[in-house]
Amino acid sequence: MIAVGVNGYGTIGKRVADAVAAQPDMRVVGVSKRSPTHEARAATELGYPLYAADPERRAAFTERDIPVSGPLSALLADSDVVVDATPAGVGERYRELYDRHDTRVVYQGGESSEIVPASFTARANYADSRGGHATRVVSCNTTGLARALAPLAEQYGVDRVDATLIRRGGDPTQTDRGPINDILPDPIAVPSHHAPDLQTVLPSIEVTTKGVTVPATLMHLHSVTVSLDATPTADDVRALFASEPRIELISTESGCVSCADIQAYVLDTGRRRGDVWENCVWTDSIDVTDGRLSFFQAIHQQADVIPENVDAIRALCETADGATSRSRTDSALGVGM
Ligand code: NAD
Repeated sequence: MIAVGVNGYGTIGKRVADAVAAQPDMRVVGVSKRSPTHEARAATELGYPLYAADPERRAAFTERDIPVSGPLSALLADSDVVVDATPAGVGERYRELYDRHDTRVVYQGGESSEIVPASFTARANYADSRGGHATRVVSCNTTGLARALAPLAEQYGVDRVDATLIRRGGDPTQTDRGPINDILPDPIAVPSHHAPDLQTVLPSIEVTTKGVTVPATLMHLHSVTVSLDATPTADDVRALFASEPRIELISTESGCVSCADIQAYVLDTGRRRGDVWENCVWTDSIDVTDGRLSFFQAIHQQADVIPENVDAIRALCETADGATSRSRTDSALGVGM
């Protein structure tokens, strides 16, 4: 059993903890938080031992009757791997502590790619992180792009990619984010940071990305155009995507014609927190004209990186190859709608 600690128990950390707990070959040693919020209380109610990220703030937890099992250093000492899910840029500050405890680390996409030997997606470059000491799961948008582009590159060859990423303004609990009544080119400069991020896991792909931020919290929507070396039909591409477990083809006839419909469907069918781990590609959006493929895909920013984190743990510990790990993760989580 791989012993896993989670530092930072927010949007990503709580999902990672549940996903790790669901794996047959992993166990959650505990989770760590800096502040005694409702999330800290929920962690203990769910049975996760809670550790204080900042030992000097431990009393703040006990004052609120939130039991603390120890300092973060104790969690690290007992963990083979720590998943760092602290806010963007904070993980880097823990690097020295993780190194001191000789604990392998999975960072998230909010950290710079410079702090790890390799960034990670399970489908595009699992092997780059095998046996490593640290890796970084790329951002939700980059994960979604890489998942679709890796099989296209393998099957047909990719000459170049142009993608417009229509991004949610914030997660549902991020009430301080926006816009609330605007549509923002974000950033205005092209390309957005997603293009270089994608190249950390698919270095040979020429790509331009543009970001647009809209007043929504549900999901991101990608409009993707790919110039292919070969000239498959749209049905060939549908068949290729259908063979990818982490890509879900959504038919117009199903009535799922929006991100809200997808969210409603997964909530209706019992997915915890409404999580959509899969890229949702609309079948009818797939078009190939003169070797240029276009499609729309919806990406659930809070969930698509979760199976990737589980695979990243196995890659660092070298307990499975990429295909075996993906299949084990998917079957434990129930990936596939
Ligand atoms: P979040 O703010 O929801 O959660 C962060 C958690 O870390 C909170 O519980 C917070 O209390 C805790 N924390 C704050 N400072 C800490 C510290 N010093 N030590 C330990 N814990 C601390 O953030 P998030 O959305 O889960 O993002 C985490 C990482 O995942 C970031 O790198 C982000 O870029 C990346 N990411 C986020 C999303 C998303 O849509 N939310 C998607 C993909 C990747």
